[in-house]
Amino acid sequence: ATPTALMVGTGRGAQLGILIKGPEVLESTRRVDTIVLDKTGTVTTGRMTLLAVHTADGTDETEVLRLAGALEHASEHPIARAVADAAAAKLGPLPAPEDFANVPGLGVQGIVDGHAVLAGREQLLAEWAMALPADLARAKAEAETAGRTAIAVAWDGEARAVLEVADAVKDTSTEAITRLRALGLTPVLLTGDNRAVAESVAREVGIGAEHVIAEVMPEDKVDVVKRLQAEGRSVAMVGDGVNDAAALAQADLGLAMGTGTDAAIEAGDLTLVRGDLRAAADAIRLARKTLGTIK
Ligand code: ADP
Ligand code: MG
Repeated sequence: ATPTALMVGTGRGAQLGILIKGPEVLESTRRVDTIVLDKTGTVTTGRMTLLAVHTADGTDETEVLRLAGALEHASEHPIARAVADAAAAKLGPLPAPEDFANVPGLGVQGIVDGHAVLAGREQLLAEWAMALPADLARAKAEAETAGRTAIAVAWDGEARAVLEVADAVKDTSTEAITRLRALGLTPVLLTGDNRAVAESVAREVGIGAEHVIAEVMPEDKVDVVKRLQAEGRSVAMVGDGVNDAAALAQADLGLAMGTGTDAAIEAGDLTLVRGDLRAAADAIRLARKTLGTIK
């Protein structure tokens, strides 16, 4: 590789909103044939809104918002922001939780006003031997079929509510995925969220259900990348979250959303400065072109 050609390539990269860690990155960029896309914050905006609160019999909706809102106020997850903001808008400032804990990929727990509160996936409740009553289970299933994320809320040993949150697909994602496919890459959607929500997002951006890997725990995302590599694929991974850092580092090419966390940016080989997935396609095309002129 001649230094001049590389400099031209990386200079053009900066114009396109792509930061490249070093010239050696271009070679792996050229080779990748599979691109794993994190869902939340990468394909979708990651800005969620609370759309509905379903309560169990005898549970007051305001109490759900107060306890779940106070708990989620301590978390930085996009789902937490949606719940905390909706609660604060309705109820004003809320008490800080005690003994707060983030359970990665599952949800949050803590004490609010003397109540032991949980918010997150049904699996988190199951770990505390709690299950959703039939009406809440139905509300959850309906929300997920509609492509929304359903969060279970429990306190003092009982499941009390299901919250519906939704996150919009970025308006650039569909075009980006079409362009990536035109470059010969196979897009794969990867998420910790449930399968119904994941498939609904995939459908919207033109990824088939067979290329959706859902309900993956944060620490297992890296194994998904390793598995694809073991099948002989050269894997690019695009992500934004702390959860994605190990997978970004493992991938043959790690692309971090510039709008994402520092951990992701540090782990990536490339940063898509504007958080626009189309820049991933630009980066791959640019690398192929740059190296093509060198040989
Ligand atoms: P992704 O892989 O799409 O970026 P995460 O691994 O961050 O998603 O989260 C997976 C799932 O865990 C979420 O869809 C949600 O059901 C649950 N979860 C995580 N954090 C929270 C939270 N703070 N409050 C409620 N649920 C949460
Ligand atoms: Mg994410």
